[in-house]
Amino acid sequence: MNHTPQQICQALEEAYQYAAQWVGKGKMPDFIPALEHEDPRRISVCVTDLEGNTYTAGSYQGRFSLQSISKIILLEQALQDSGEEVVFSRVGVEPSGTSFNSVYRLELIEKVPANPLINPGAIASASCLTGRNKEEKYQKFRALAGELLNDPTVDYDPVVCDCEMKTGHRNRALASMMLHNGVYTGDPEEYLELYYRGCALRVTAAQVSYFGAVLAGDGLCPKTGRRLLSREHSELYRALMATCGMYNTTGRYAVQVGIPGKSGSGGGIVAAARGKMGLGVYGPELDGNGNSVCGMKALEYLSRALDLRSY
Ligand code: GLN
Repeated sequence: MNHTPQQICQALEEAYQYAAQWVGKGKMPDFIPALEHEDPRRISVCVTDLEGNTYTAGSYQGRFSLQSISKIILLEQALQDSGEEVVFSRVGVEPSGTSFNSVYRLELIEKVPANPLINPGAIASASCLTGRNKEEKYQKFRALAGELLNDPTVDYDPVVCDCEMKTGHRNRALASMMLHNGVYTGDPEEYLELYYRGCALRVTAAQVSYFGAVLAGDGLCPKTGRRLLSREHSELYRALMATCGMYNTTGRYAVQVGIPGKSGSGGGIVAAARGKMGLGVYGPELDGNGNSVCGMKALEYLSRALDLRSY
């Protein structure tokens, strides 16, 4: 069923009001000190349809840290640069059942990370970027992110990136562990920094919803119809989002929301309702698994109100 702009705007406003009731129920991401001081009442709920129209509701239209949503873009860059064979020799496509920065699987279960949407998987993706040096690799990735987020000026916040480089000891352990396991050769510090720069991209919820619309439209730019991602890659990313997008809350999210989604610990979530629309929500407080509490509630509401369930 197609919705009128009025119906979409009304659903967004109601979703925002509904989500706002959960302010105070989550926790700020203390594992990234630079993000700890955002205002928990700042919530944003956005939709971009497949014609490229964006609708927004909420009290915040500013920028936040993309964090783990960037793992999809990093994977796309890895596939463009090194191809499927190399990428999927370094990372799998199975749910991990563990937290995003768990060390346990790499030691006891499998040498290669379970999927590209947990931290070690994204660091493995970063190891597949090609270029003469870190800067060249980053600029290529940044240009891709600019296209997928409809913002050619998108860039990373050095304060957030430096903070994670200094305090992300588990991620450094994961990066070293993968060098030890023979997942990749080269410099794990470089892979770590590329990963963190991606995480630290500064975005708006509207841009995140645009990215969702690209994924929902099988890779076509919702404004121009130009192909930004192959159909096969769009299918791959939606499948990974559906099975691994919310870490070990993915099952509950599938039950409650039912739209492929990917969360970031910056408080954003992207969701892609195939053939319908992209959704981008933001609320900085997280649940125990690193997903935005208010963002999840907003998506739950929108899924029902606009009949967006995929499964
Ligand atoms: N940069 C964060 C980290 O490495 C990303 C985690 C997340 O968004 N879930 O811990």
